[in-house]
Amino acid sequence: MTDPVRPWNFSAGPAVLAPEVLAQAQRELLDWRGTGASVMEVSHRGRDFMDMAEEAEQDLRTLMGIPDRYAVLFLQGGATQHFAQLAMNLAAPGDSADYVVTGHWSQKAVREAEPYVRTRVAASTEADGFRRVPSVIDVDPGAAYLHYTPNETIHGTEFHRIPESGDVPLVADMSSDILSRPLDVSRFGMIYAGAQKNIGPSGLVLLIIREDLLQRTGRPMADIFRYARHVERDSMLNTPNTWGWYLAGLTFKWIAAQGGLDVIGERNRAKAEALYAAIDGYGGFYRNDIDPDSRSRMNVPFRLHDEALNTLFLEESSQAGLLALKGHRALGGMRASIYNAMPMEGVKALIQFMRDFAQRHG
Ligand SMILES: *Cc1c(COP(=O)(O)O)cnc(C)c1O
Repeated sequence: MTDPVRPWNFSAGPAVLAPEVLAQAQRELLDWRGTGASVMEVSHRGRDFMDMAEEAEQDLRTLMGIPDRYAVLFLQGGATQHFAQLAMNLAAPGDSADYVVTGHWSQKAVREAEPYVRTRVAASTEADGFRRVPSVIDVDPGAAYLHYTPNETIHGTEFHRIPESGDVPLVADMSSDILSRPLDVSRFGMIYAGAQKNIGPSGLVLLIIREDLLQRTGRPMADIFRYARHVERDSMLNTPNTWGWYLAGLTFKWIAAQGGLDVIGERNRAKAEALYAAIDGYGGFYRNDIDPDSRSRMNVPFRLHDEALNTLFLEESSQAGLLALKGHRALGGMRASIYNAMPMEGVKALIQFMRDFAQRHG
């Protein structure tokens, strides 16, 4: 179902949600499951909410094939809070941890962890302007974990393979690529993702943690920061983001109804391929500077050959029903985020606009 009245939304985040999910939330807003209240107005400890919460977790486990030895948490604080909190939980005082630095978000992950762990850069592509992901990672076998950012949302790079980390637990910030393709969860120690790109509304963060990592830290810490406590209490140590959890659950059902991650992954591959072909295709009118093997399937930054046309491009694209194409302020240019909920139809509309614009101004 696509609503022809709604424009195509290429926002990097908070980002587009599936129209079916929004429509269901709308239908259920005044009376959820016959409770006479919305999902936001009932106790998180009541039967209805607990059932929904459990079902959402089970649906996610099925979609991603999450092994039983992993805990799933629905917490708050965004990915940013967990940059710090994961260091508090996965490293003991005095430990060192390895980081792969591929852009804005991985740099921030290092910075926020620094008060809690000795950080060490195991690979960096900064000298290349973050235009690719590294081919070699120098993992310290004594590191508490190896952290990386599979998809750098701002720079538009993506790992298309999972890095080798030996016995060192691999930790991934999947905020902008979770659920975008099939994934072997067993390769990871911990996966986490802010919800507002591929899952649901902001204010919810999803964590998938191998349970043997929960007892690592000897650090004194309030319960609210301790992952082990959140696991014991099924993410209900305090009031969870009930609305976010509910919308995440609807999105998991939507992905399953599409055919699961194989289908979604194939769609994402085809969408990205078509868009990069357009960028590379119109005689140098557009360009993307990322190494072809490192190009993101989720966030596609591109530039116009003549930057003086940027404002016009944004004005005209917005009038044509193509929203939020302005690039991140740190990089300028354009960026089209094409998460799961952006169908090929939206990508085709963008490509057609780009072709017309290049013809008119080339
Ligand atoms: C958006 C994003 C974040 C920040 O998420 P918050 O929920 O705002 O803290 C972190 N990492 C990546 C890769 C992102 O795309």
